[in-house]
Amino acid sequence: MKKIQMVDLGGQYEGIKEQVNLAIAEVMETSAFINGPEVQTFQTQLEDYLSVKHVIPCANGTDALQIAMMGLGLQPGDEVITADFTFAATVEVIALLRLTPVLVDVDSDTFNIDIEAVKKAITPKTKAIVPVHLFGQCADMEALMALAKKHGLFVIEDNAQAIGADYTFKDGSTRKAGSIGHVAATSFFPSKNLGAYGDGGAIFTNDDNLAHTLRGIVNHGMYERYHHDVVGVNSRLDSIQAAVLRAKLPKLDGYCNARRDAARRYSAALQDQEHIIVPKTVNYCAELCDENICDTCNCHVFHQYTLRVTNGKRDALVKHLGENDIPCGVYYPIPLHRQKAYADDRYDEADFPVTNQLVKEVISLPMHTELDNEQIVFITKTVIEFVKGP
Ligand SMILES: *Cc1c(COP(=O)(O)O)cnc(C)c1O
Repeated sequence: MKKIQMVDLGGQYEGIKEQVNLAIAEVMETSAFINGPEVQTFQTQLEDYLSVKHVIPCANGTDALQIAMMGLGLQPGDEVITADFTFAATVEVIALLRLTPVLVDVDSDTFNIDIEAVKKAITPKTKAIVPVHLFGQCADMEALMALAKKHGLFVIEDNAQAIGADYTFKDGSTRKAGSIGHVAATSFFPSKNLGAYGDGGAIFTNDDNLAHTLRGIVNHGMYERYHHDVVGVNSRLDSIQAAVLRAKLPKLDGYCNARRDAARRYSAALQDQEHIIVPKTVNYCAELCDENICDTCNCHVFHQYTLRVTNGKRDALVKHLGENDIPCGVYYPIPLHRQKAYADDRYDEADFPVTNQLVKEVISLPMHTELDNEQIVFITKTVIEFVKGP
């Protein structure tokens, strides 16, 4: 059996080596390292793939979130509601811009922002909601957009983990994750579903005016050379990363399918085990096809495959997998409202029952495009052995 890795970027590279090496060599030949033609080409291809009017490439996903908030003109003191159970980047940029983060609990099935909790958190100062499409599945965008419309709020999608996923509306129509809110941010960090070979990110929007504003902000607030109309940042996607991404984008749907296939095998083996809750695909499409992870739709792209261990033995399972040379991850072990940087007297523990439970129960199994059946059988066998006990 091949050595099991949490993420196998080397194995994936083997399958695309020629295209990637050629694309990088072309950039070297042109010496257009920043904002070269590769960046423009990738931008256009991603716009087509997502059916979104504007993709604005930038240096990383954290910048993408920050620039999106700057572009919307959010001001110090404005309240921005986001999920308590996510990677810190989301709340970090809110705090950096001196906006007021308002962390709310998540849904126990999807791990995504809880709509009722958002409703409760809205005040006259609320200006935006940042749903994070955690682990590869969209938050309930239809409900969030309706809520945002009612209260005049912006919706900023944190799409760092769900690029390529579809969201199905109640009428059966679908849109790509990141093309539904007023603006979205994504990351091309190497281990993300569409990963570069270094840092990268992008902002998406269908709003022409906002796109224009954002294109200036990423480049020192310049709309005309050496005319600085707004305070901007330096956040550009370099051409070598764009070349890698351009070579990988045509593979993205195949990569998502490979991840979903692995997830389906994991779930088939683990779903009837006591003390284990397998991830749920909660979506209108799942209702339509009556299957948790169906073959035909793309609602979940499994950036992570995350189990809940309900008998209090999550940490022991982490240890047991480690002893069997199976890597795993705990995303995320501490809720943001209890992180030193973001703790605040405003928060009441009673408002975070789900996050507080999830941080004790979640464990993410190896998930990438190169997992083979032998590895999955070994991993699930090892998990089952543990939960069954001696
Ligand atoms: C990875 C990630 C980010 C940040 O992206 P970087 O490119 O690493 O800056 C933001 N939000 C979420 C949910 C992420 O997973």
